[in-house]
Amino acid sequence: MRVGIVGGGVAGALLAWRLRQAAPRSTIDVYTARSTDGDATSASGGLVRGFERLEHAGRLAATGLAELRANPALRAASDYREVGSVYLALSGDGLGDPVRVIEEALPGSATLLTAPELAARYPFRGLPSGVTAVVERHAGFVSPAGLRDAVLGWLTDRGATVRRMPVATVDPAPALRLADGVTAGYDAVVVAAGPWTPALLAASGLPAGGLRVKQIQYTVYEGGPAGLGTFVWEGTGMWGRPAGDAGFLLGLPGDRWDVDPAGPRPDVALVDRVASEARRLLGHPLAEHCPHRTTVSSDCYHDPPGLELREVASGVFTFTGGSGGAAKTVVAASRVAAAALLR
Ligand SMILES: Cc1cc2nc3c(=O)[nH]c(=O)nc-3n(C[C@H](O)[C@H](O)[C@H](O)COP(=O)(O)OP(=O)(O)OC[C@H]3O[C@@H](n4cnc5c(N)ncnc54)[C@H](O)[C@@H]3O)c2cc1C
Repeated sequence: MRVGIVGGGVAGALLAWRLRQAAPRSTIDVYTARSTDGDATSASGGLVRGFERLEHAGRLAATGLAELRANPALRAASDYREVGSVYLALSGDGLGDPVRVIEEALPGSATLLTAPELAARYPFRGLPSGVTAVVERHAGFVSPAGLRDAVLGWLTDRGATVRRMPVATVDPAPALRLADGVTAGYDAVVVAAGPWTPALLAASGLPAGGLRVKQIQYTVYEGGPAGLGTFVWEGTGMWGRPAGDAGFLLGLPGDRWDVDPAGPRPDVALVDRVASEARRLLGHPLAEHCPHRTTVSSDCYHDPPGLELREVASGVFTFTGGSGGAAKTVVAASRVAAAALLR
């Protein structure tokens, strides 16, 4: 089988690697832009945990994290930091099934805490009384860029081709027309170009298949709450994790849709909202006293969300749509997608 993959982010790289493992005699060509600076993989916060409200996503996140922890090469390449995770849910409703999914893959990892238990152990303030936390011991954060770089290296060592050559258009032949004018034919083509995917499909006269681009940004502060690993607060969508020796990364969901991934502009109002929500939730005077820097990028979204293989034309697939959460699911989702493609 000959497969051409557009995009050398973590999605394209891991899909190529899974294909190579499952079908060693197949031809796998990965085409990536000349620079990967600023792609979603380079900018990612990298939070990984097993908890997800949607069962399918939770299974991918939990089994992927279990594989990453158990595989020394993946663990080292992704620079996995097991700092723990706290998911603050608005209520305890509907948490039983997702916690069971975590327990199957990562026994002994997940615990439920009530609001008073939470207040005794963590620095969160002013949470409503019904809040229930899913605390995971075996969770933390990774470097998706480190994982991508290592996997692209493994691929070239194992006979796959990784070319820093942008793809101009995708033909339903299926074939890829490259920026240098050459056309390469395949049995299947996968567009894993992250937030560039909808524009590339449009330029190729192909349907976007419900994919859209949304800006994501976060700010890293010097200083931050002590003793806190990664967290998400369902009430506002605030998320964060330790960063560096004495820093903390914090983000809130924004509302900038259909942005150009090549030219992200910081949302200044969102930076202010993060600072005030951090003061409210963590009691930390982050904005006034701490030097900070903001990272802006974007990701490809789909409703329902999920990093999965979707066919947009005969022999032409997309592998994106993780909606700001594919660092968590990519290890397992790439295995599922490779199996589906080979079928
Ligand atoms: C700011 C931010 C924070 C995030 N935080 C988290 C988190 O904490 N936890 C989590 O689970 N997920 C997180 N995510 C989501 C996760 O990082 C992304 O879903 C994932 O990295 C997407 O990878 P990708 O390979 O699909 O896309 P990308 O990393 O964007 O890769 C696509 C690649 O395709 C290349 N490309 C584009 N067009 C072409 C072309 N025509 N020809 C060749 N190559 C092309 C691009 O240059 C790029 O390198 C975050 C995302 C962002 C943006």
